[in-house]
Amino acid sequence: ASGHLRHLVAGNWKMNGLKASTDVLDAVIKGHDAVLAARADLMVCPPATLLAAFAARAGGSTVAVGAQDCHAAAAGAFTGDIAAEMIADAGGKAVIVGHSERRTLHGESDADVRAKAEAAWRAGLFPIVCVGETRAERDAGHALAIVARQIAGSLPDSLPGDLVVAYEPVWAIGTGLTPTVADVAEMHGAIRRQLVERYGGAGQAVRLLYGGSVKPSNAAELMAIADVNGALVGGASLVADDFLAIAKAC
Ligand code: PGA
Repeated sequence: ASGHLRHLVAGNWKMNGLKASTDVLDAVIKGHDAVLAARADLMVCPPATLLAAFAARAGGSTVAVGAQDCHAAAAGAFTGDIAAEMIADAGGKAVIVGHSERRTLHGESDADVRAKAEAAWRAGLFPIVCVGETRAERDAGHALAIVARQIAGSLPDSLPGDLVVAYEPVWAIGTGLTPTVADVAEMHGAIRRQLVERYGGAGQAVRLLYGGSVKPSNAAELMAIADVNGALVGGASLVADDFLAIAKAC
């Protein structure tokens, strides 16, 4: 039912990238030609230090720039944090919220993630809300229930704007491991049903990205799965040719 959605391939650079890494962005912009742009939208999410420079550089191109996290508040005494409004002001179009590294290393709860998603919409961005089970949770047969609970708690009762959800099994991130095609299809189908139950037609328009060890060698198989509408790419997004090859696989 959602086969009409354009694929989005978003690169999560995590805590990688210096000014010199602008050449990677330049190569991505150059590679996102009309043929590729017809297949997939591209977004690069650099660290906050590079956000404004990257957004300026990508301005006028078909490549969008996003951020990796935001604070829920619009401004205030929050040393080290960045508001969604600042991301928008820097030229960002989106923000990743609830990445497993934030949930684990910074103790972010579903309620925190929901507040950050709401901040994104408030600032005119769209959130990329991340969910995913641990290895132990999958082995115990709880993956679907865990992700359903994360989705329920990390999203508001009605959608104020565009939403992207990224399913990233924690055990697949940076490990080279990926779930089976059947497991990804089952999870994405379940997420789609949950979104449609909750939001009606708007749930059909939510792009569902798969993330976790997406590489040029496995991208075609993953991107062909029903209800997979793109990828959230970590390590492979740091190499322009790999990132572009993943987009070409859409
Ligand atoms: P990976 O990271 O592609 O390096 O596994 C994905 C992510 O954490 O978004």
